[in-house]
Amino acid sequence: MRRRVIIVFLCAIMLPSLVLAYLGLHYISQEEQRQEQLIMQGLKSTLAGFAREAEDLVNRALIREFDSLIASTSILDSISPSEIYQFLNDNPVLGEVFVLDKEGLLLFPRTFRAQKEPGQNLLLLPSAARESLISGEEAEVRGKLNEAIIDYSSGLDDCQYPRERLAFLIRIARCRNKNGELKEAIQTYRKVLVEDKDRFYGEGVPYQFIATLQLARIFDTTKRPGEAFNVVVRLYEKMIYGFYRFEKQQFTYYLNSVHEDLERYKQQAGPTAPQLLDSFLRLEELYLKEPSRCDFLKENVIPSVEIALRPKLAPDILHYTLINDSADSSILVAFMASGSQAGRNSVIGARLSYSHLIALVKRSIGEYDVGDNLAVVFHPDNNTSKQAEEINSTLIAQEQLHLLAGALEGCRLVMTGTEGVSIKEFTSRGVLLYYALILTIILVIAIGVIFIFHDISREQELTRMKSEFISNVTHEIKTPIATICSLAENVNEGWVTSTEKKQDYFRLIASEGEKLGHLVEKTLDFSRIESGTRRINVEMCSITEVVEKTLERFRIMTKESQIDITVDIETGIPSVCMDKAAIEQVLLNLLDNAAKYSPGETLITLVARRDKDYLKISVSDRGMGISKKDRGRIFDKFYRSESDSVRKVSGSGIGLTLVKEIVESHNGTVTVESEENKGSTFALQIPLYQKSYGKDSSD
Ligand code: ADP
Repeated sequence: MRRRVIIVFLCAIMLPSLVLAYLGLHYISQEEQRQEQLIMQGLKSTLAGFAREAEDLVNRALIREFDSLIASTSILDSISPSEIYQFLNDNPVLGEVFVLDKEGLLLFPRTFRAQKEPGQNLLLLPSAARESLISGEEAEVRGKLNEAIIDYSSGLDDCQYPRERLAFLIRIARCRNKNGELKEAIQTYRKVLVEDKDRFYGEGVPYQFIATLQLARIFDTTKRPGEAFNVVVRLYEKMIYGFYRFEKQQFTYYLNSVHEDLERYKQQAGPTAPQLLDSFLRLEELYLKEPSRCDFLKENVIPSVEIALRPKLAPDILHYTLINDSADSSILVAFMASGSQAGRNSVIGARLSYSHLIALVKRSIGEYDVGDNLAVVFHPDNNTSKQAEEINSTLIAQEQLHLLAGALEGCRLVMTGTEGVSIKEFTSRGVLLYYALILTIILVIAIGVIFIFHDISREQELTRMKSEFISNVTHEIKTPIATICSLAENVNEGWVTSTEKKQDYFRLIASEGEKLGHLVEKTLDFSRIESGTRRINVEMCSITEVVEKTLERFRIMTKESQIDITVDIETGIPSVCMDKAAIEQVLLNLLDNAAKYSPGETLITLVARRDKDYLKISVSDRGMGISKKDRGRIFDKFYRSESDSVRKVSGSGIGLTLVKEIVESHNGTVTVESEENKGSTFALQIPLYQKSYGKDSSD
């Protein structure tokens, strides 16, 4: 039977459950893979977002650099190399700076003029001025210097542009110098220097140059070497700042001449002159670096920038272009529209320093806080260094950076797990719920299995106990019947002759009959309880009467045995509303058990007391007692202790079940206290006044 149940159970529940659990686990592993893909996609797009953000941050940082370059150099008004060099020292990410106008013409750095400017075309002079110039020159050639000065002065009055005025002024100064009017000559030469405004106008030779050298000669001949030195130094300074207004060879020629004069005058010009000269020599060195840089820019950078310049540049947007310098290096150039230069839009650009750019990217990325055991690291290139290998072990995702027109190609953003966390751990977090679910299902099934097996075993035990009960009852019935038959036969056959003996026989027959009656009563009662048809017939009765009646029956049943019963009934217990026969049955069962399970001398005590609104009856013996294990089960139907001493005593296992049922139908309770080999006490507690009856009440 048991095997069949197990097979059915396995087929009906366990196998489908196992198949379901397998399918569940299979689904979970698939789900895990799907989750992994999803998480990877999510992390990758987060990383791509970081990359875009990094690009944006770097771009904005560079725009800020450009803005502050424009602000700090007042570049649009006058471009000063010294200011720009100062800025580049403080902001190393920007390298060489250049400024173009919108046609791509280089405004900064400056270079030498490409060609000599054609000499002043005097035919362009206003006609009156031209006539004054011709007559002045004729008078000068003839040595009539005063006439010449008058002619030149009238020509000067007819001119309004500086270039034209300077042609007359230089001639007036020359005539005054020749005429020995040194003071007036000095004044006029100074006027030439002022009116030229450092444009270096001239007819072949710049007027500034002629005026300065003439002034220096006058100062020299009039023994004023300090002033001679000062005026030449000023020309030197103007030439350095305005070098781009010269053609290169012309500049070198004039500069040599200036150098010679300065060397000559510095001896007598006072103690500070050599120092002053040195500082101007350094300035010359700084400024004359510009032309060579300029050539490089013109050849390499400007053509690329010009391409980008064709469409109109939007302001505040930084453009990048990568220029191949040589086979193994390239130059990254950034440029933006910077406003207007002399009414035209200009472009400011700079070569970017690679190393400083990397530092800038690192700084920007250092600000990312991804949390959740993740870290984002910037890898400058694809090298296989030890550090890269270490990262590879916890690598989760990586993203190539396309920053700045691909200038940082090969650089990567790498997302790694910190503290050894891998992508698997992120995935398993997602499917943990599924695992928990499957485990719960398996657990529920397992608990169900245990319960079912438990029930089956209980059922089996009950079946076993039932069949044991039948054989026990049969035996219990057979024994008194056999005794009665044999006693009756003895009397009938005339074997017993004395009246005394006969009376003994009849008492024995009565005792066995009582036992038989009790057994039948007990079995019938039990069967009624089982089928739910048992009724109790309550009436007001005295407990003393019930006890006495029970003792009477018990004595008949146990005539032959050595039993010492002590009965103690409290006086004054009121009548109790109860089923007299049923309570008799209860007490008889308890007394019968006390006698049965007390081997040797039997001492039984029956005590009845009133405790408030309850009637308490206890039956104690000093018999074999009940083990702790059995105590919990003795009220179960058919239960009999497994111990040998109990098995020797005949019994059916329904007596105490009946006791409990009857007492509970009187709304009472039954408890047991026992100690092995010392005895047991069964205590009943029944309410004196019944309100209503339990399930078996006969209303
Ligand atoms: P039984 O017919 O076996 O006596 P009961 O239901 O009356 O059936 O008792 C159940 C079991 O309780 C007994 O088999 C016995 O093991 C135990 N038992 C009952 N009363 C006593 C007692 N007074 N002393 C020891 N064991 C007892």
